[in-house]
Amino acid sequence: MATTTDPTTRTILEPISGERGATIHGPSNVAVEEENPSLLLPPTTDGGTVPNLKFSYAAARNRVLSGGWGREITIRELPIATDIAGVNMRLKPGGVRELHWHKEAEWAYMIAGEARITAVDAHGRNAVEDVGAGDLWYFPAGTPHSIQGLAGGCEFLLVFDSGGFSENETFLITDWFGHTPKDVLAQNFGVPESAFDDLPTDVGNSRYIFAAELPPARAQDLVAGPAGSVPQSFVHRMHQQEPIKAPGGQVRVTDSSNFPISRTIAGALVEIEPGAMRELHWHPNADEWQYYLRGSGRMTVFASSGKARTFDYQAGDVGYVPFAMGHYVQNTGDEPLVMLEMFKSDHFADISLAQWMALTPPELVQAHLNLDDATMAALSTDKRLVVRGA
Ligand code: MN
Ligand code: MN
Repeated sequence: MATTTDPTTRTILEPISGERGATIHGPSNVAVEEENPSLLLPPTTDGGTVPNLKFSYAAARNRVLSGGWGREITIRELPIATDIAGVNMRLKPGGVRELHWHKEAEWAYMIAGEARITAVDAHGRNAVEDVGAGDLWYFPAGTPHSIQGLAGGCEFLLVFDSGGFSENETFLITDWFGHTPKDVLAQNFGVPESAFDDLPTDVGNSRYIFAAELPPARAQDLVAGPAGSVPQSFVHRMHQQEPIKAPGGQVRVTDSSNFPISRTIAGALVEIEPGAMRELHWHPNADEWQYYLRGSGRMTVFASSGKARTFDYQAGDVGYVPFAMGHYVQNTGDEPLVMLEMFKSDHFADISLAQWMALTPPELVQAHLNLDDATMAALSTDKRLVVRGA
C-alpha cells in the first residue's frame, strides 16, 4: 500500500496499488484506517458483498460503576453475530457482579487476576470456587451466580450462547427485591416487614457491579447444604491442559469432552507465532465468535459464489465467521497472536483444507487445480492447525 508523509511527519496510508486507486482528498480518520488496511485497500482476491465481521471493545459502550465496569458486543453491535454475545468485564478488589441469573448459558475466560464465583443449581447443590488467569467457568442457562474480584481485582471475558443476550437485561437479586411488595417479602422469608427497612436505596435500580469488602479465604466462605456441591464442576483450568503442538504455534481445545458441564459452548485457545498462520479451514457445526487476546492478525472469510472479505484484528477486537465459511488467521505482528475461537456447540470441530486434499485421490485434486506432484506431496494427512511462516 502506498503511503505519504504529512507535514507533522506522520505516515498516512493511501488506497493506491500500482495504477489502481488514488489519494484521499476528503476527511480521513487516520487512526481507524491504520487499524484496517485490508478495508482501505483490500487484496484483489476479495469480492462481492460480505457483511461486517469485526467489532472492537474499544468501540463498545462501557457501563462504569463503583465496583468496576462491563462492555458488551452483542447482535446490536455486530448484527451477524446471532449465535454468541460477549462481555469484557473488570472488577476491582472486592467488586461484585451482583447475584443474578439469565436465560442464556454463561462461559467465561479469566484474562488477568482472580475472582470468587458462586452458584446454586436446581437441586440445591452449590459451588464456591476461586478462579485465576486462564481458568474457565460455565453456568447453565437460568443458574443463579455471582462473581467477586479478589485481592488485585480481575478482568475476564464472558461468552453467552445467544447473540441477543444483554448484560443490561439480566435478572438481578436487588432488582427483584426492589419490585416486590414488602409484605410479600416478609411472608416469603417468614420475617417482619421491618427486616427490609435497610435495603440499599439503589435497590430498585440494579446495583449490577458494586464496590464491596474483600471476602474471607475460600475455606471460610464455603456454605454446606444437605445436597452438597454441584457434581459437575462449573470450573475448568484451561491453561493446565496440555496444548496440541502445531508447526507454527499451539492450540488448547475445551468442550464437553473435557469440561462436561459446558454443553452449549466449545472453545479453542489458539497461539500463533509471528509469521505463522491458523491454516485454511472451516467449521462443520457452528458459527465462530473470536476474541483477540494479544497481538494482531488478518483474516479473509470466503463466503462462496465469488464472495470474500478481509479484515484486520488487534487485541481487544471481536471477529465472527458465519457457519461453514472458509477462513484463515495470519499473525501480522512481531509478537505471538493469541485468540479464542468460540462455538455454540457441545464440541469443537474443524475441517482442514490441506488434510481434505491430502486424503482425496490425488489425480482428482489435480484435475481441479493443476497442482504439480511436489505440491501434492507437501499436503499433510495430519491436521496442522497452525502452519509456519514461509
Ligand atoms: Mn452472568
Ligand atoms: Mn476457525
